[in-house]
Amino acid sequence: METYVQPVGPFDLVVFGATGDLAQRKVLPALYRRFRAGQISESAQIIGAARAQMDAPAFRAQVAGGIAAHVPADQQDADSLARFLGRVFFCPIDASSDRGWKALVTRIRPAVGHVYYFSVGPELFGDLARQLYAHGIADPACRIVVEKPFGHDLASARQLNATLARHFEERQIFRIDHYLGKETVQNLMAVRFGNMLFEPLWKAQYVDHIQITVAESGGVAGRGDYYDRAGAMRDMVQNHMMQLLCLIAMEPPHCFDADALRDEKLKVIRALEPVQPGDIVRGQYTAGERPGYAEDAAVGNSDTESFIALKVKISNWRWKGTPFYLRTGKRLKARSSEVAITFRDPPHSIFGKQPGQRSNVLVIRLQPNEGIKLKVTVKEPGPGGMRLVEVPLDMSFARALGSAHVLPDAYERLIMDLLRGDQTLFMRGDEVEAAWAWTDPVIAAWQDGPAPDLYAPGSAGPEAAMELMRRDRRRWREIKP
Ligand code: NAP
Repeated sequence: METYVQPVGPFDLVVFGATGDLAQRKVLPALYRRFRAGQISESAQIIGAARAQMDAPAFRAQVAGGIAAHVPADQQDADSLARFLGRVFFCPIDASSDRGWKALVTRIRPAVGHVYYFSVGPELFGDLARQLYAHGIADPACRIVVEKPFGHDLASARQLNATLARHFEERQIFRIDHYLGKETVQNLMAVRFGNMLFEPLWKAQYVDHIQITVAESGGVAGRGDYYDRAGAMRDMVQNHMMQLLCLIAMEPPHCFDADALRDEKLKVIRALEPVQPGDIVRGQYTAGERPGYAEDAAVGNSDTESFIALKVKISNWRWKGTPFYLRTGKRLKARSSEVAITFRDPPHSIFGKQPGQRSNVLVIRLQPNEGIKLKVTVKEPGPGGMRLVEVPLDMSFARALGSAHVLPDAYERLIMDLLRGDQTLFMRGDEVEAAWAWTDPVIAAWQDGPAPDLYAPGSAGPEAAMELMRRDRRRWREIKP
């Protein structure tokens, strides 16, 4: 099966913060891969910008290094790399002063689309917006991209939205949550709304509970400064896990259009009940073979959670009575992300009590080994009467769709949507604010509470998280690589 490539029109893309980690590791390699695939025109200009005093050849060498390190060797070649680097330029610029802006204005071509990627700390978003406007390059057709974190709480997110709204309309602002760019996350929508099979069952009447797990085996080393101010709730739940929850819980939008989809997600966020303090477990990893949280984050004593588990309820007709259990953490047993929908048991078993009969579970695996698994009950083969066993109907996307389908990195998909002006997979301002409005009281509730429970590295989190499930007579799924 061939991958379909829809070329995007000519553009000038300015990457502010182009020498930083995100740009070098994700944004520029993603652009190279799309260029090599023929999706980006040979006339595009990719202009790096940062304070570093560097000329274009030095920047190109840095970009080539980033591509060599972050693009698989079988997806690189010298010819396409040379042609790509020929489209890469650099302007030394300071977001907080006028230094370098005139050169950028000269570099930008008036007749093509303009996209400005803010790959810098959020404290510079306002400065960049102001400078683009003051230098006359914030034209009404241009787009800006802002990275997470979008605010630290509701007040700061509102302020950021207001700052950007001074110079840009909502249709021009692309707030990235790279989870939405993951193929398997988009597959949540394809599975739900592209098949008749699941949707009639997708409601509290048939679904016992839903588990969303985003487990990481790595710690916070290297990101300690940011992470200790955020914690798992702000770093993962308020954005990525909230987006997953919305895609699972939302009503079918009337079409696959940016506002139709975002309206439905917003309704889910607004229907979330406040989380009860007893339905939250926070944890922090201890030292094992590798350092514990405090040493990893280089912060000394800290009450920041590197793990969180929550029981979340949605107050609407579809989901009343079906809890969503969310769990995410660092230094856990394995790197594994999945959504598991456990259906209710049949109302009556004609086979009597059968140890092999389990609830049906639909598992949508986000990483690694993306795929879908449906656990069903069948008869165990053999002459020994009617004994039931559970078997998985297993579909690995890589196996089913073949090797021609190399799953693109989330940033590739999102940057192409951005260049096309499609906001469907980007968060709207009111959506981000609603997510903070739900998150803030959850965080406030533990301010004077106990420190996070400790958990051993390589475990499934603190014991209290297991108890959160046990008391509801349920169990977390095993975290498996
Ligand atoms: P970083 O490695 O610290 O890079 C920051 C970039 O901004 C550098 O290129 C820096 O270059 C430039 N910069 C700093 N001050 C500037 C100024 N006054 N004017 C112009 N350029 C300036 O940060 P990062 O990790 O790439 O993160 C960038 C943004 O993406 C942040 O908002 C972060 O939260 C977000 N993000 C990052 C990741 C990730 O994996 N890294 C993931 C998700 C979101 P100079 O010092 O030369 O100016």
